[in-house]
Amino acid sequence: MAVPKKRTPSSRRDRRRANIFLKEPQLVKCKKCGKPTRPHNVCPECGFYKGKEYINVMAKIEKKQKVVSSEKEEIVEEVKKPKKAVKKEPSKK
Ligand SMILES: [Zn+2]
Repeated sequence: MAVPKKRTPSSRRDRRRANIFLKEPQLVKCKKCGKPTRPHNVCPECGFYKGKEYINVMAKIEKKQKVVSSEKEEIVEEVKKPKKAVKKEPSKK
């Protein structure tokens, strides 16, 4: 097994770790809606990039709402249907 020949001094260790940190993401104002977005990326709020629509955000939202409403209907149907009572067999003792 490889073993370090010399102990790493705290100053050297700390110098190495000085560059380990999270960078704050660079944000640019969207030209269409003014919301902060990442540069060179399609705006997630309005779906526009360089004055052109790439993502139809409204269609996505409507699709999501449809899924949610259909899920709700399924839950309602489940509640309405009476569950078949399961007869418990007496345990043998
Ligand atoms: Zn936008």
